[in-house]
Amino acid sequence: MTLLLGCIADDFTGATDLAGMLVRAGMRTVQMIGVPETPVPPDVDAVVIALKSRTTPADDAVRESLAALKWLQAAGCHQVYFKYCSTFDSTDAGNIGPVTDALMRALNTRFTIACPAFPENKRTIFKGYLFVGDVLLSESGMRDHPLTPMKDANLVRVLQRQTDRKVGLISHDTVRSGPNAIVSRMDSLRSEGIEIAIVDATSNEDLMRIGAACTGLPLVTAGSGIALGLPQNFRKTGLLKQEATADQLSFPQGLRAVISGSCSVATQAQVADYIDEGRPAFAVDPLRLAAGADVVGEALEWATPLLRDATPLIYATASPDSVKMVQTQLGAERAGALVEQTLSAIAQGLVERGVRQLVVAGGETSGAVVAALGVKGLHIGPQIDPGVPWTMSLGEPSLALALKSGNFGTVDFFTKAWRNLP
Ligand code: ADP
Repeated sequence: MTLLLGCIADDFTGATDLAGMLVRAGMRTVQMIGVPETPVPPDVDAVVIALKSRTTPADDAVRESLAALKWLQAAGCHQVYFKYCSTFDSTDAGNIGPVTDALMRALNTRFTIACPAFPENKRTIFKGYLFVGDVLLSESGMRDHPLTPMKDANLVRVLQRQTDRKVGLISHDTVRSGPNAIVSRMDSLRSEGIEIAIVDATSNEDLMRIGAACTGLPLVTAGSGIALGLPQNFRKTGLLKQEATADQLSFPQGLRAVISGSCSVATQAQVADYIDEGRPAFAVDPLRLAAGADVVGEALEWATPLLRDATPLIYATASPDSVKMVQTQLGAERAGALVEQTLSAIAQGLVERGVRQLVVAGGETSGAVVAALGVKGLHIGPQIDPGVPWTMSLGEPSLALALKSGNFGTVDFFTKAWRNLP
């Protein structure tokens, strides 16, 4: 068993996004939650280790990333991929620069690229400037991000403020000329003492060219886009099989349920659509939780007789006004934690009652549910909607899980997901 690509992602949904891209490109991929304590599962081409290191102090991010690297090296992986957000979310203190530095040092390499481009999602780079849709990063909503406000769109400058290594640029005219031109540009940058190159990319073709040029690099740092271009390298050397059947998993059979703790606009519409269709739904009221009511018991008692013939939805999803009212009374953090604990306990109860196929809406909610169920890793399966694949948990009992972050998915997601489960 050879692990081809070992990835370190700086957050959970980013890890899922990358894993989905790799599967799409034909690599059998597992996403591990945190630095794994168990060996690599069999029949896997790529592992994505999901950390929470995007906005933690740089020292912590470095420590965690190096621990992840150690595990990947022990697994004998051929190439390492550091995945960050396609909007290059970071501050002058890090964490993209410090983590890249530490990984380069540990891998004993003097050159890597940095390319957050993801043209399908309208993140393109030209002359080192990152565009979000039609505007510069610094003119996009990211300029007001609460944790990582991006006020400079020039990635060479942004990254240079985070590292002592010299940062350079591989510009679009070089990229357009193909992999050989990119490799010779890498060589000339190296001879100028440049150790990290921002790379322009405006299309999937560019990502394929850049991917091909990265074949000899021990470390690649990027958004999820470049993942499209790497599997071809492993195919060429015969390490990866030709067929693209990476998403074929044998999902467990069993009862079904939906849990929703997301209050995002898309999820609100999905919950409303499910109820409008006349399907069974149970609302969790945070104020009753705070008053000590046994909502977990009530929800399970309600759901149990329905499970055989229907797919019950248990939701805390509410309108902005209602959330605001709850947060004013309980505090945002307490309300969030109460709801997450409750939905996690309900998920545990449902699994005890034979549920083996579960849709969960909400990034934080998914994290809490997965932790409560003791899930340490996920095989990545077929895509339901962009950014949301079906997954199959490692360990026992095996569960089919669709973990949807807030604004993902079409309005009929809670019914469509089941139609897409093989
Ligand atoms: P998203 O992916 O949409 O951001 P998350 O699960 O990450 O969803 O975050 C939603 C947060 O809101 C969670 O902490 C959840 O517990 C909390 N929450 C859910 N429903 C309510 C509610 N009715 N009132 C207050 N907070 C809520």
